[in-house]
Amino acid sequence: MKIGVLALQGDFAEHIAMLKRLKVETAAVRLPEHLNGLDGLIIPGGESTTIGKLAVAYNLMEPLKQFGQRHAILGTCAGAIFISKDIGRDQPLLGLMDIKVQRNAFGRQIDSFETDLDIPELKQATGSDAPYHAVFIRAPIIESVGGDAKILASVPDGRIVAAQQGHLLATSFHPELTNDTRFHEYFLTLVD
Ligand code: GLN
Repeated sequence: MKIGVLALQGDFAEHIAMLKRLKVETAAVRLPEHLNGLDGLIIPGGESTTIGKLAVAYNLMEPLKQFGQRHAILGTCAGAIFISKDIGRDQPLLGLMDIKVQRNAFGRQIDSFETDLDIPELKQATGSDAPYHAVFIRAPIIESVGGDAKILASVPDGRIVAAQQGHLLATSFHPELTNDTRFHEYFLTLVD
């Protein structure tokens, strides 16, 4: 199994480190040809407008859309914004997942926070049902899920922070910024 990490901007290095801890072969993706031979892809947190602009500049939009039709993608934070269909404003999006996302929904950088989440799917994938400690940095929320997308996790006030649609996963939080590998392990179960 070989998993790519989109390495245009943001915290791709932390995702690569997490995959290495799980003994998974990885590749940094910066050009369309870097997608060849990959079984899945992670799109990291960062700044979704910048990731989008660079993806347009490097002719990655169409190859990424096609990759997501057939292969598993995990989008974290800015990555979740980038794989969504609707964010209520105009910026380059892959439009792969039937989720409506609101950027910066928890406020500004100083409103970043951490909280424990209950994510039942992690128990199925890893056998552990310990609370999942999630880190939110100027995070988006998933306002709604459509089509056959389902909610994976919400914060206590009910706002959705993780969703899945088939082989596509989106999180408002940063699973790569803790020592807990369970979310990445869950993602790997979606990779064919
Ligand atoms: N606020 C960023 C955006 O809108 C996302 C922040 C992050 O990825 N940590 O793209």
